[in-house]
Amino acid sequence: MKYVDEFRDPQLIGGVAREIARSVDPHRHYRIMEVCGGHTRAIYRHGLRDVLPENIELVHGPGCPVCVLPTGRVDDGLAIAQRDDTILTCFGDMLRVPGTHGTPLELKARGADIRMVYSPLDALRIAQDNPAKHVCFFAIGFETTAPSTALTLLRARTLGVRNFSVFCNHVTIVPGMRAILDSPDMRIDGFVGPGHVATVIGCRPFEFVARDYGKPVVVAGFEPLDILEAILLIVRQLHAGEARVENQYRRIVLWEGNLAALRAMASAFELRPFFEWRGLGFISQSALKLAPAFADFDAEVRFRVPGVRVTDPKAAQCGEVLKGVLQPAHCKLFGTQCNPEHPVGALMVSSEGACAAYYRYVHRGEPVTA
Ligand code: SF4
Repeated sequence: MKYVDEFRDPQLIGGVAREIARSVDPHRHYRIMEVCGGHTRAIYRHGLRDVLPENIELVHGPGCPVCVLPTGRVDDGLAIAQRDDTILTCFGDMLRVPGTHGTPLELKARGADIRMVYSPLDALRIAQDNPAKHVCFFAIGFETTAPSTALTLLRARTLGVRNFSVFCNHVTIVPGMRAILDSPDMRIDGFVGPGHVATVIGCRPFEFVARDYGKPVVVAGFEPLDILEAILLIVRQLHAGEARVENQYRRIVLWEGNLAALRAMASAFELRPFFEWRGLGFISQSALKLAPAFADFDAEVRFRVPGVRVTDPKAAQCGEVLKGVLQPAHCKLFGTQCNPEHPVGALMVSSEGACAAYYRYVHRGEPVTA
């Protein structure tokens, strides 16, 4: 398959892996963060850790939208779902994210009308098909999914659909990266930049990492060769004493991003003054809310959601894993109380969550010993 097979070619992969091995300084330890959960999954799925030198440490970043959503926001969404006249719609991986009193799937089993959709447009269609009900879309995701929510809002307004709203939990990646760079317990040498987000926002928004923090960023695709090439480019920059943004994913990502998608987002959303990220706390201007022109479609305006803050279970170490301070298997609950069948934290739910990816491709359900 074009754009897949050549990026999984074992000979090419072996060649880049050998080039990385030749390039690294054996006396140096490299900490490279893959920002996006899609990269985390690909790294485990393709066993890339095994072809890298020991002194390259891959650190998982916060780029999994389900994982960074705090429990309180899940509870808020489920409060909307408990209204008799309401259908709550969400993406599939949201269905298994634990709130304080269970997951959306469990609430559905108790009688709530909660439906999985593949796109916000599906939710809008459900609203059109059910005029006697109110249909709310539980929107999550970074800039990758925010444009589809924005376009759905524009369509809902054009069509004059009155029984549709969005519970907006879209977050933006740049403030999350800045929070990590400002975190005193973090030392990151360079970043594999989030390829999916960059298809929308382009490469320019990452320039602050190089300019203000002196760290290289290489925006990368999601095949094994993409990720290894990005690591090689980061190592080369470090050795040359450089810090630049490079675009390894040129077959998809334009430097200026997708201007039509950015325009749609600009018309439908505005920045929240602050928003809570699981594990990272409140980060200013890091999330989107509906613009005043779309207040009629804003679930938080229509329903007055409780807005409670919920602390994660004490033993759960999701925050440390999200910040890259801890590897998934080092969480006290990993593989015992927390596993894909019974997730305690959201990182064990989404396929892009570091804990779920590690469990599936490395740990493979083996018993965990202390
Ligand atoms: S194993 Fe579970 S509780 Fe621990 S960090 Fe991962 S998701 Fe959170």
